[in-house]
Amino acid sequence: MMTKQSPIVIGEQEVAAGQRATIDLPVADLYTHTQLTMPVHVINGRRPGPTLFLTAAVHGDELNGIEIIKRVLRLSALKQLRGCVIAVPIVNVFGFINRSRYLPDRRDLNRSFPGEKRDPSQRVWRISSPKKSLPRLISESIYIPAR
Ligand SMILES: [Zn+2]
Repeated sequence: MMTKQSPIVIGEQEVAAGQRATIDLPVADLYTHTQLTMPVHVINGRRPGPTLFLTAAVHGDELNGIEIIKRVLRLSALKQLRGCVIAVPIVNVFGFINRSRYLPDRRDLNRSFPGEKRDPSQRVWRISSPKKSLPRLISESIYIPAR
């Protein structure tokens, strides 16, 4: 009997085995009340295997990784994926929109791991899901390529 990959839960959304989804995690509200979200791409394979976690633009002015993740997400090899790929092409959404390396308060997101619960600028790493927080998912990921 073939074992099935378990569903991945991020935010309040579940991605079943063999499914892919883009989940918009809310990170903050702008002064205009527009909600700022961090898109998380989940490609969950049919069969079990390791989880690959990819991030780019932790510094909002570093754009190369965004394109690399876009290309990875288009790979046809993902149809035979075992395990899961979780990709966040733009982690520092605010910095990216404002063409800035830093968070709005000039802090460096790259120095904010895993993040303080009460600190709004670090909340990006504390977004929790019903079952697992994003940092938990990261710590369970087996392959995290070096930046
Ligand atoms: Zn950087």
